Amino acid sequence: MPKPKTPPVCACPFCGQVVETSGKKFKNSKDAEKWAIVQCSCADAVAHVDKALLLEKAKEDIDELFGGEDKQQNPAAREILLLAAHMISDGAIESCQIKLNYGTKAGVKYGSKSTLNISRTDTETSVRTI
Ligand SMILES: [Zn+2]
Repeated sequence: MPKPKTPPVCACPFCGQVVETSGKKFKNSKDAEKWAIVQCSCADAVAHVDKALLLEKAKEDIDELFGGEDKQQNPAAREILLLAAHMISDGAIESCQIKLNYGTKAGVKYGSKSTLNISRTDTETSVRTI
């Protein structure tokens, strides 16, 4: 397989502005395109970068809230919430709340100033009948 060539320039996929790569090496054209987006200052590129950072932070928060030990760990909740975070940032849905099977509710929604709120509510009731 031939080694991919590094283009001397790459273009922002949103506005087409050409950015010099200055000899920078990329794994593939998709990687070069990502770099061009970060370098470009057009509104779409900035929004794309902001969204990517928001989703990266959302993933960290979801992992922190639902990736712990014992019953905190819930791979299904993590998967659903991450998908919901993507859909909310795309404008497809407004919020998502799920009820887990051990008295825990999980949710994701837009907060103020275009932030995402990830929530976990634990309700534990112990009943003893004598
Ligand atoms: Zn651009």
